[in-house]
Amino acid sequence: MALRLYNTMSARIEEFHPIRDHEVRMYACGPTVYDYGHIGNFRTFIAVDLLRRFLRQSGYKVHHVMNITDVDDRIIHNSARDGLTVQQYTAKYEKVFLEDAAMIGIEEPILVRATEHIPEMANFVAKLAEKDIAYRADDGSYYFRISKFPAYGRLSKKDFSGILDGARVDTDQYDKDSARDFALWKAPKPGETSWQTQIGPGRPGWHLECSVMSMEELGESFDLHAGGEDLIFPHHENEIAQSESYTGKTFARFWFHARFLLVEGEKMSKSLGNFFTLRDLVLKGYKPSSIRYLLASVPYRNQLNFTFDGLQQAAVSVERLRNFRLRLNAGGFASGKNPAMQSLATETIEKMRAALDDDLNTAQAQAAIFEMVRQANTAFDTGDIKKDDVPPLLAALEKFDEIFAVIHDNDTPKMKQVFDWAIAQGREKDISPELREAAQSEQISDAEIETKIADMKAARAARDFKKSDAIRAELAEAGVVVEITKEGIRWRRK
Ligand code: AMP
Ligand code: ZN
Repeated sequence: MALRLYNTMSARIEEFHPIRDHEVRMYACGPTVYDYGHIGNFRTFIAVDLLRRFLRQSGYKVHHVMNITDVDDRIIHNSARDGLTVQQYTAKYEKVFLEDAAMIGIEEPILVRATEHIPEMANFVAKLAEKDIAYRADDGSYYFRISKFPAYGRLSKKDFSGILDGARVDTDQYDKDSARDFALWKAPKPGETSWQTQIGPGRPGWHLECSVMSMEELGESFDLHAGGEDLIFPHHENEIAQSESYTGKTFARFWFHARFLLVEGEKMSKSLGNFFTLRDLVLKGYKPSSIRYLLASVPYRNQLNFTFDGLQQAAVSVERLRNFRLRLNAGGFASGKNPAMQSLATETIEKMRAALDDDLNTAQAQAAIFEMVRQANTAFDTGDIKKDDVPPLLAALEKFDEIFAVIHDNDTPKMKQVFDWAIAQGREKDISPELREAAQSEQISDAEIETKIADMKAARAARDFKKSDAIRAELAEAGVVVEITKEGIRWRRK
């Protein structure tokens, strides 16, 4: 069965087939690096990450490009306020963004930066001006003439037939519903950072960045373009207008939009006190794996209502999966196999695939793995799991984790990282007792234990018992009991 995805352009669910066999070219609008990312931003980035991982699991080679908006009105304003150059200012927030993304298991896309493509963008504007689609204003800015693009409004389903020719807007954030000629290129105001180009000094508009860089990396027509639902209009509408009037071809075939995240039922806002960056949550002591799990748990087209209750439940769910895996790895099973367990594992893999094929229904995929864990735990207790049932059950967990990426992840070093960052920022008072405890615990992770066990096995295979004993003693010191049995090596924490 093929993946079916909702396409904002056609406003229906369609079978997803890329232009080239076995290869998906996708572009996601990335962050504007002027501040710390909030959990709403990461809801969208995780939705795209889940899609990317599922496409790969489905056998596609995925080219996933994301832009970093490293120049815009806010960046220019804030960098001047802080006495920094635009580059110094954005470098800091880009680094923060990439650390945050890695912390919640987002695989890094191919990154493209606006400020590294300025000449290409100026050239693009020049070409549009030759066709009279772009025009130059008195101050040297360039605008896109919307009246020249009759399909304007097709993505957002807005009717702009009565649009005024020449009415303009020149801020990066503007009215949701007004269609105005938008800035492709902005001439510098006195003292502003700008670039000298073939169309004069200035800087690119936000919409232009995405058009130019996506087509440069992925070609004039590619498979899928993603972002949060707020980007449908005007950002994506403008990207389409620019790109299609430049090439005369379809820009992106699928438009993938994640719905907004709410916090405790309300729009996130600083004034309501319900605005959280990722680091705010880790400072409170929540684990990155719990955050990822929660943000992935609601299908991307449903509104996600973020609550602290939900976050606690997510932590319990992740723990249950990790414990189940440890139980399987502990060994000591009677030989043979139980056909019921064999088919449980196979059916779970099929159910997860069917759920994700159905417009990425992550909630159902999670439900499928928990049903497996529930049934297998019962079988454990009655001795109905046999030695040969372990590999297929583990394989189902692995399939799940290829997408959700919470079981293998080790939270402790990430929490240490946020702890160190808070100290460096002089925010020690914001560190919760829970984070302090997690960051200061010397507890060895499961992954580290398993690495040491593998070393022990290798040492024993080479009959280097001295080395094997030394590792065993080291683990004992870290509170891990190692038992060597005929079945192999087992471990548990004291
Ligand atoms: P920005 O850095 O503001 O350009 O946003 C980066 C990404 O986060 C975009 O794809 C936005 O659509 C998305 N986004 C912003 N706020 C939210 C929210 N509350 N819920 C989900 N996605 C959001
Ligand atoms: Zn974009």
